[in-house]
Amino acid sequence: MRDIKGEYIGIISVDDSKSGLIPTEETVRPLEIFANLISEIIQKHKLAKEISESEEKYRELVNNIKIGIFRATPKGKILEANPAVVEMFGYANAAKFLNVNKTDLYNDPDDYNEFISELEEKSVVKTEDFTLKREDGEQFWASITSSAIKDKSGKILYYDTVIEDITKRKKLEQEVQRLSVTDELTGLYNRRYFNQNLPIEIRTAERWRSALSLIMIDIDDFKQYNDMYLHLGGDEVLKETAKVISHVIRKEMDWAARFGGDEFVIILPGINSAEAAIVAERLRKYIRAIKFKPKSVIVHKTISLGVAHCYYSETRASRTSTRNYPTNYEKVATDLTILADSALFSSKNSGRNKVTVSKKALEVSRIAR
Ligand code: GH3
Ligand code: MG
Repeated sequence: MRDIKGEYIGIISVDDSKSGLIPTEETVRPLEIFANLISEIIQKHKLAKEISESEEKYRELVNNIKIGIFRATPKGKILEANPAVVEMFGYANAAKFLNVNKTDLYNDPDDYNEFISELEEKSVVKTEDFTLKREDGEQFWASITSSAIKDKSGKILYYDTVIEDITKRKKLEQEVQRLSVTDELTGLYNRRYFNQNLPIEIRTAERWRSALSLIMIDIDDFKQYNDMYLHLGGDEVLKETAKVISHVIRKEMDWAARFGGDEFVIILPGINSAEAAIVAERLRKYIRAIKFKPKSVIVHKTISLGVAHCYYSETRASRTSTRNYPTNYEKVATDLTILADSALFSSKNSGRNKVTVSKKALEVSRIAR
């Protein structure tokens, strides 16, 4: 008996020595047919055993893996789910989970709709961009990979989805992102954020055809304060100044950064320098009124400020030349910072504890194409 590859899997032998007959093709042929039949049956059993063993292994893998796997119909009915996915969504058992409609697992129905239409188009989609919803309503970040299983005619039969809870990683990434743009001592944005975002703010101002102001702030005679009350005493002044800045600016619109050492900047979108000067003046007075208490003595500190702004001008492209050119936002950002810094320098030179508004302003404009 041979298997399909032609290898021996057994022998059938018939002992007919007593009859004295010599086997002929005619008497051997039925034996061959019989042997083939038996060998087919043996092979089928072997295959069935192998399949059942591999199914067992596969099921074990799906059941024990910490990654969620489920199958759903295009209408969103969940057909199968492994224990990990049930646990991930916080359901008591698989039966409860199977009763949920797939759309209810997504926090935002728009996320689900977008994901499904992309899936219909591409057959396989992976995303890490949105959150899912547990039974108790709690959200978690997930890496989701779905593939559309189609029949021969291309009709989608169901979606197979693999989900991994990546909340820990996402939170860590967000924290790293936050730290990378935050000044550790004051909690304000750092210089890196300022450099990255001022050009973006200028571009936004241009789009809205609006102005944008920048206030540059430097603490007066800070070295002396550090010398007298040590570095930690100085740190308190920096922290308090940052607090007052955050208090004075508009929460949703303005933002502030520590520019370096004892220098701070405030960005005020939609505001010209005359209006920004009012904010600067208010800030100056607030700081002057604070009673610092290093070494149990009351000390007042002052700040000097410089204000500059850029404004929208419809006419730039036509006025300069026939050749249109786009606004260089990085350059406007640098020039605006320089203007505010020069104004701050004037405040320092004219006795400190002052607000100076730059006489110059920068113009930005949309380019007619
Ligand atoms: P001016 O009125 O001209 O600004 O005089 P100033 O003494 O404040 O001079 P300047 O602004 O150049 O001095 C900045 C000082 O800020 C120098 C540096 O020792 C101090 N400084 C920079 N970073 C820190 C910090 O993180 N903590 C503390 N305590 N001091 C800092
Ligand atoms: Mg200073």
